[in-house]
Amino acid sequence: MPRILVTGGAGYIGSITTHYLLRRGYDVVVIDDLSRGHRENVPAERLHVARLQDTGAVAELLAGVDAVVHFAAFIAVGESTREPEMYFSNNVGGSLSLLEAMARADVRRLVFSSTAAVYGDPVSVPIPETARIAPVSPYGESKAMVERVLGELDRYRGLRGVALRYFNACGAEPEAGLGEAHDPETHLIPLLFRAAVTGEPIQIFGDNYPTSDGTCTRDYIHVGDLAEAHVVALEHLMGGGGSGAFNVGTGKGLTVMEVLRAVEEVTGKRVPYRIAGRREGDPTELVADSSKLRKTLGWEPRRSKIHEITRDAWAYHTSKVKS
Ligand code: UDP
Repeated sequence: MPRILVTGGAGYIGSITTHYLLRRGYDVVVIDDLSRGHRENVPAERLHVARLQDTGAVAELLAGVDAVVHFAAFIAVGESTREPEMYFSNNVGGSLSLLEAMARADVRRLVFSSTAAVYGDPVSVPIPETARIAPVSPYGESKAMVERVLGELDRYRGLRGVALRYFNACGAEPEAGLGEAHDPETHLIPLLFRAAVTGEPIQIFGDNYPTSDGTCTRDYIHVGDLAEAHVVALEHLMGGGGSGAFNVGTGKGLTVMEVLRAVEEVTGKRVPYRIAGRREGDPTELVADSSKLRKTLGWEPRRSKIHEITRDAWAYHTSKVKS
């Protein structure tokens, strides 16, 4: 089976994708500096703790590797507006180090974690890949920059790169003990659980957007479906497929209040909330047109109904609280 290097494989989406790849029989090596990831998310014999800028370590790990799946990055939009240099240094600098090492090792296939944040505040939804790239945060900009570098390397180095532009990743893989555990947590569903459990109200960031109930609309995609998208992208590259960018979402938008109601139904608990001001940089609506991924790579979301997402996330959440 092909040997795959996964960067950031101790993080949320990286660990679940690693789990999927191992289950499919791929020979997986993980590099993670554990600055945000969790050691227990990766089988010990697969994990190498190092930074991407440690070119010696990366070069060693790339020996015999057929393709790289590159997750390692900082991901918090708000933090990126406060610490832009850190985001460019880690997300762009780390990627450049990796890409240089890949060129030296002659590894020419890459699946890259990108984001819907490259579109900024979209002109219309659903958003196709051909929409304007206009990020509104250093985080989104850092991902757009790496995508552009990949375009150049496709041309001048024959590097085949697939960028997957994630919409709202959520859910968990509770049987594998893997799920979302950011610190500090900024994402909606884990914060809804926290409010349900502690009774401390969650802040809803704005209720005067032009949507059905005034709260923002997002396209929530189960992390298992997202992991599957990486597998199909990898298979595409291993089969000689070319570079490209693909949206990964369901095509269906839900408001914050709709997600809150689903959490109440699944947990059987009331979620206390209070309406707060809008959060800077939050677009009204982000919904994917994912027909390119469906048509070209045959991917379909299978687990992304909001009740299934919240059920899996809740199972993971409760298992972590007990253990
Ligand atoms: N949100 C909220 N309160 C929170 C966290 C998030 O109202 O405490 C809203 C946020 O404004 C957005 C949606 O929930 O409309 C999803 O936010 P999240 O941070 O999970 O993901 P993002 O859309 O920023 O990628």
